[in-house]
Amino acid sequence: MSSDFEANGRVVIIGGGPAGLAAGIALAQLGRRPIVISRIDQASRSRPKIGESLAPRAWPILQRLGIEHLIDDRRHLQSPGTLSSWGHAGLASEDFLFHANGLGWHLDRNRFETELREFAESIGIQAIESTKFRIERAESNGWNIGLESTGKTIFADILIDASGRSAAVAQYEGVRRKVYDRLAAWYAFLESPTPIEDARAMVEARPEGWWYSALLPGGRLVVALFCDPARLAGMNRSMEKWQDSLAETQWTRQRVADGRYQATEPPRVAAADSSILERIGGSNWVACGDAAACYDPLSSHGIATALASGMDAASAVHAALGGDLEPFERYVDRVSRSFSYYFSMRAEVYAQEKRWSDSPFWAARSRIDFEESTC
Ligand SMILES: Cc1cc2nc3c(=O)[nH]c(=O)nc-3n(C[C@H](O)[C@H](O)[C@H](O)COP(=O)(O)OP(=O)(O)OC[C@H]3O[C@@H](n4cnc5c(N)ncnc54)[C@H](O)[C@@H]3O)c2cc1C
Repeated sequence: MSSDFEANGRVVIIGGGPAGLAAGIALAQLGRRPIVISRIDQASRSRPKIGESLAPRAWPILQRLGIEHLIDDRRHLQSPGTLSSWGHAGLASEDFLFHANGLGWHLDRNRFETELREFAESIGIQAIESTKFRIERAESNGWNIGLESTGKTIFADILIDASGRSAAVAQYEGVRRKVYDRLAAWYAFLESPTPIEDARAMVEARPEGWWYSALLPGGRLVVALFCDPARLAGMNRSMEKWQDSLAETQWTRQRVADGRYQATEPPRVAAADSSILERIGGSNWVACGDAAACYDPLSSHGIATALASGMDAASAVHAALGGDLEPFERYVDRVSRSFSYYFSMRAEVYAQEKRWSDSPFWAARSRIDFEESTC
């Protein structure tokens, strides 16, 4: 990042997910007026988000952003803990009850993002949605963003890349992503006239990967298999194959049967890789959230980390615009160190499951080396 910016330089954030909106809110709290631009097309508008869990550790981050009022049990569902069959055939329970930050939450993800965006707008942030736009380096020391929907061009001194896994700005800059584990999520939403009441998330290890299920606000159940992407070749949208795989589980199948759940539409596939950009930022740009680094959903880190890194990237940009580059260097270093710490913790958790060390899924996870990655 260059140090020759005026203190009133314009910051544009690419991506209006948790990271981008948190960056916007934090910049507004520092007295700036950032613009948040999101690429929203018809497909992404109607695509249901998986319905993620917000870990208890997110609470202090929500408080720092002043958005804790957006999380309550009228909107989202309290999660009292987790059930796991991992490393053993039984089902172990871990309560959040004694966690310093209280309970976790199963989010209505679309509602969370809509309300976060409304909050951002209420404190003066301009949030723009566009189906298509073009990012280019400006002749001066900044960027031009051309919005196809209006034909307008917006100038930015600094871009914050919060565009999720697509990392649009990093990609424009030719920065590659180091991918350490190519995990895929094969998931479906199930409905029932008699939903279960147990709001604990459930994780069940199986030879082919691990299953996750969680009750969502409104009584739906999201059920996902996390596995090697190659396993899904040719059957992504097959309800029958998905049901067959589910039938081989023990605890997840029982949970679905207890609630008399039925899938209403074919399963979907989402990338859930663990990956990090080769460079977290550069001249006049910095990445945050999934654009910077993606975590295995097993960690339930994604949203809390996206919010925290959005906030941290905002402080670093604010300081850089005032001529102080040290916070920027510290931020970049922190993202890399957090990822390598996460990766070592992740290896320990996967190593606890020894029952199927010969199966391709678990054998591959025991071989993953932090020094080796594919781009
Ligand atoms: C299957 C699965 C399950 C998960 N479960 C959990 C969980 O239980 N708990 C948890 O905490 N995390 C979970 N995560 C991770 C979590 O979803 C992400 O970490 C989090 O959404 C990251 O937020 P973000 O703002 O960085 O990116 P995103 O939420 O991906 O937001 C990116 C934004 O940028 C926009 N955008 C994309 N491309 C462009 C572009 N080219 N230009 C402009 N805008 C663009 C998108 O429209 C979107 O608004 C899960 C992830 C997966 C895949």
